[in-house]
Amino acid sequence: MLDLNDLRGAIRREGGISRRLFLGYSAALAGLPFLADRARGAQVIRSYANYPFSLGVASGDPDHTGVVLWTRLAPSPLDPDGGMDPVPVEVQWEVAEDEGMSRIVQKGVATATPLLGHSVHVEVNGLQPGRWYWYRFRTGDAESPVARTRTLPAPDAMPEQLRFGVASCQHYETGLYTAYEQMAKDELDLVFHLGDYIYEYAGQDNRVRKHAAPKLTNVTDYRIRHAQYRTDPLLQAMHARCPWFVTWDDHEVENNYAAEISEGNMDPAVFLIHRANAYQAYYENMPLRRQSIPRGPDMQLFRKASFGRLGEFLILDTRQYRSDQPNGDRHSDLNAAALDPKQSLLGARQRAWLEDALRGSHATWNVLAQQVMMGMVDRTAGEAKEYSMDQWPGYAHERMQLVQFMADHKVSNPVVLTGDIHSNWVNDLRVDDRKPEMPIIATEFVGTSISSGGNGTDRPRNHDALLAENPCLRFHNAQRGYMRCTLTPSTWRTDYMVVDFVDRPGGTVSTRASFVVEAGQPGALTA
Ligand code: FE
Ligand code: CA
Repeated sequence: MLDLNDLRGAIRREGGISRRLFLGYSAALAGLPFLADRARGAQVIRSYANYPFSLGVASGDPDHTGVVLWTRLAPSPLDPDGGMDPVPVEVQWEVAEDEGMSRIVQKGVATATPLLGHSVHVEVNGLQPGRWYWYRFRTGDAESPVARTRTLPAPDAMPEQLRFGVASCQHYETGLYTAYEQMAKDELDLVFHLGDYIYEYAGQDNRVRKHAAPKLTNVTDYRIRHAQYRTDPLLQAMHARCPWFVTWDDHEVENNYAAEISEGNMDPAVFLIHRANAYQAYYENMPLRRQSIPRGPDMQLFRKASFGRLGEFLILDTRQYRSDQPNGDRHSDLNAAALDPKQSLLGARQRAWLEDALRGSHATWNVLAQQVMMGMVDRTAGEAKEYSMDQWPGYAHERMQLVQFMADHKVSNPVVLTGDIHSNWVNDLRVDDRKPEMPIIATEFVGTSISSGGNGTDRPRNHDALLAENPCLRFHNAQRGYMRCTLTPSTWRTDYMVVDFVDRPGGTVSTRASFVVEAGQPGALTA
């Protein structure tokens, strides 16, 4: 059984946390025999007291022959067990070529197990490349809504166009998901969610909405929080429109964590148990493939997706493997600590994988879908220099090496997509953004939050000074919304979609600004 005192003693003896040592304990805690459980007989439930598809359905991680179909049974979504008995349950699924579900091309039965919060992740294969499908689930007498998904084009195809949305940071308490209402009308092929899908904080009064459950640490509370977010009808509707690629930032676990280091520097052994719980609930609630099933506090989330030869997407995880933020997490000049070559945001394994993927790509557009701002933006007006140490500037050596790698290997049209900071930014990226005489290598589009931070403002504090003092910076705005990107073989276009207010229903979405990048010419141009 778990004994934290034994674990702490062992950590002291070894002079630090040993992943191998920790795994034995976390396995006992997190209840890991996921796969074994699937083999056992599942129950057929005939009827439910409440609708079991209260969290909706979703699809994700498509490739050119398949996609993951997701749902989670939760007749009482805010109950600790979601309103389910602790037994595995049968769930039927169907995929059709038409919205009316008359031409079924595949169907099957999956098991919703209590060890995975009664979630279902069906990996459908053998579909046709580059086309739309519809799907639904059934359990007992309950039927899910019909939702739409798609496969990606064949690897050697050159599609004429790709349209996708980029979302991040959807604090449930600070605003409504009005942005998703417009996004659902945009006829997008894909959505990239770049993190802060949930926030871990305890509920606060006098906000737009209120979190259930205390500050998250155990798997039950993480599950309840995900369930509460998923009950939002606008979020559900957007998941039902197209497949999503999701990655996390910090708040899916805890603000500003770095690998096994928590914000408040708690015992890493204890924090890794929180992280294991958070990762498990994240997997359960996202349309992810089996490769992402967590092993204790570890979870494989960085991965690649190819939209034919038009776009290669490298989806990064800049939390799980990073070194601790230098300079005590605070804003700082790019001093020796920030420039220390030992600082890594990616970790060695992910960095090697990323460089391999960039080197081997034949795509027109090479896209990093990731969390924290890469532009070296001085965030304070006047002589003083202040860079965010939680973002790439806190890992400036690795960041400069990565952009240099893109230049050295002539990576075709690199574009960086970013979330995290609840504001919109367009950055021209150079090896060192402090040196405008250097050539532009890539373009970064930073997207604002869906709801985090409340209504926001068009021209935030320091707006003019930031633009004047940072030659890399082309645009800045701090309203809520999302990015809408349209790619063709010759042009990338990003529309900055903003919402006038999110503190009450009825907000309207408009295009605040649009930027294009012409293939072969790095740098953003006003559209
Ligand atoms: Fe956030
Ligand atoms: Ca964040």
